[in-house]
Amino acid sequence: MSVSTLATDQAICTPLPVLGSDVRVPLVTGGEVPYAALDYAASAPALQRVWDDVAAYAPYYGSVHRGAGYLSQLSTELFENSRADVAAFLGCRDGDQVLFTRSTTDSLNLLAAVLPAGTRVFVFETEHHAALLPWQRRADVAVTYLDAPRTPAQAVEILERELAAREPYGPALVCVTGASNVTGELWPVRELAAAAHAHGARIVVDAAQLVPHQRVDIAELDADWVAFSGHKLYAPFGAGVLAGRADWLRDAEPYLAGGGASRSVARGASGEVRVDWHEGVARHEAGSPNVIGAYAIASACKALAEAGFDRLAERERELIARVREGLAAVPGVRVLSLFGPDAPSVGVLSFTVDGWNSSHFAAALSAEYGIGVRDGLFCAHPLVRTLVGGDAAAEGECGAVDEGAPLNAIRVSFGAGTPDE
Ligand code: PLP
Repeated sequence: MSVSTLATDQAICTPLPVLGSDVRVPLVTGGEVPYAALDYAASAPALQRVWDDVAAYAPYYGSVHRGAGYLSQLSTELFENSRADVAAFLGCRDGDQVLFTRSTTDSLNLLAAVLPAGTRVFVFETEHHAALLPWQRRADVAVTYLDAPRTPAQAVEILERELAAREPYGPALVCVTGASNVTGELWPVRELAAAAHAHGARIVVDAAQLVPHQRVDIAELDADWVAFSGHKLYAPFGAGVLAGRADWLRDAEPYLAGGGASRSVARGASGEVRVDWHEGVARHEAGSPNVIGAYAIASACKALAEAGFDRLAERERELIARVREGLAAVPGVRVLSLFGPDAPSVGVLSFTVDGWNSSHFAAALSAEYGIGVRDGLFCAHPLVRTLVGGDAAAEGECGAVDEGAPLNAIRVSFGAGTPDE
């Protein structure tokens, strides 16, 4: 595979050449073509600007919060500035905390770990597994799974009904995605937050697919927490964010026990080890943090804010419209949709093709056209089962999927680095 340096100036932000459309791939039919990276929802190619920032810092990194030396001081400043940049990007309120985690999955597991005992969690069955599964691992937390809604308004109705039906309860949390990783459809986060708060519940937004595409302002959404991953936001793997209210985080046991989270550790009178844990962000960031990952996320946040989300969204709408138009011309294609064909969405779209196993179709796109997409159930099995089973609003010509056909689909997704052609 050769890596050329074709200009990508039609893209709104420049992807890293080696990961973006400048990669040329061989075809089974002979010859090679520029790789079409259409799997941004899985991991978005890093932006050149992010990589440049990381490369400029890389020779200087040292341990954070631990050393008196110059490199440690520099790294600590860079790490804490990154936290402040992410807080500014998310419009955090006074008192909100920004924790650096490993990913969205890690952020939501962290939140699950700090829920007060007896919390009731409400979560739609349509969520990505990262948002669906962490809560039921806590034996002292009750989870209410909400049925798949067919419109955004119905999502609010279902939530309101279930919140009301289960009152009275103590602490309660609603977990909802901002944008679906399967359909790209936007969820009515503001309205769901209002419903949650009206019933005394809090809300966490899985913003993994929202933050790369839309401005997310935690105060405007009135979300209590948001979670997202760096690698979907044009930064490298290995870092994520949980941002929001400090109280439950402060009152809980640390997510990880270890250095950095502990203020003081000493042997007690009867020989036990006594720990005095930190109260701030350090409480849940034990161990040496991923400074480069945090810095890369902050760099990506700034790059996107400067590029302008209005521009990004407008271009994505154009690209999605072109993809839909193209697919509409292919017999047997069914675009998956929960809220209907006109529902607003980000640059993510999934479909099935009559008579095709989606995995074979995706493999053919790669081998014959150099197009990289994702296939499968996208870590959202209940949602894909509902949609592919023909149980929800569907577009296109085909009706129900054949009995016995694999329950999988093909996903195309793009973002800031996608060139026009
Ligand atoms: N939530 C959504 C909506 C996602 O699309 C993903 C990843 O695909 C995740 C959560 C999990 O993200 P990560 O794998 O970075 O933890």
